[in-house]
Amino acid sequence: MLVRIMTIRGTGPAAEAPRKAMVVGNWKMCASRAQLTELRAVGDAAAHAALDVVICPPFPLIHPAMRSARGLSIGAQDCHHAVEGPFTGSVSPVMLREAGASHVIVGHSERRQAFGESDADICAKAAAAIRARLMPIVCIGESADERDAGVAAAAVTRQLQRSLPALAKPDEIVLAYEPVWAIGSGSTPTSDEIAEMHGAIRGALRDIFGRGAEQVRLLYGGSVNAANAGWIAALADVDGVLVGNCSLAAQDFTPIIEAVGNAALKGQPLAA
Ligand code: PEP
Repeated sequence: MLVRIMTIRGTGPAAEAPRKAMVVGNWKMCASRAQLTELRAVGDAAAHAALDVVICPPFPLIHPAMRSARGLSIGAQDCHHAVEGPFTGSVSPVMLREAGASHVIVGHSERRQAFGESDADICAKAAAAIRARLMPIVCIGESADERDAGVAAAAVTRQLQRSLPALAKPDEIVLAYEPVWAIGSGSTPTSDEIAEMHGAIRGALRDIFGRGAEQVRLLYGGSVNAANAGWIAALADVDGVLVGNCSLAAQDFTPIIEAVGNAALKGQPLAA
């Protein structure tokens, strides 16, 4: 169920509000300027589905995407942890904010693997994003070896504890559970495996935030497509999806937005 009651820490039951569903498209290093024409149809689908849709194009497309992105938010795929400095090739969260981004993915497994980023790096980036008033989308997920060894939940909760900055408030972050072996592979975990992991993550969030844990949006990512988005989004503790390949073309992405939106409507407790 996608939209559930949450209680804002310290304010009592009167402050209950639903978690809004979210769909994030990660264009990776795969898009040219021509891709921006896809955003009109994506924006229309987002408006009808009444959920948050974030498109994360490569850095040079962030500013132009803002012009085509009616009804959408624009995010980046990474950031540096510093505001400025001698870091050739890097982009700071403040610069992303100035370019029009409102979100930034940090800790994607491709960054962890190909660029050797550690949990400590990701924690610093997430903290810098929050300071720049960007919403970090913090990715965590086990490798195939960790799943085979039966230590997936332990690996993921360890990543979570080490990657979340101490200054983060629960409504200032989004988490994405992305099993590394599911990304770009066409394989997904079973519904039981996803529900079990999201439950474990929510439990770890309660240890960190107490009742505030109910505010954190928790996405699933890894080979999401039009055929599986609906059942994934309907699972307990899944608040939306993070999509790679199928976010590039509107014809693939808009059915995912619709499926997640429908799942959210079915799960909606109609909070005031
Ligand atoms: C991703 O890159 O975060 C991702 C989930 O990719 P894909 O949807 O292609 O598996």
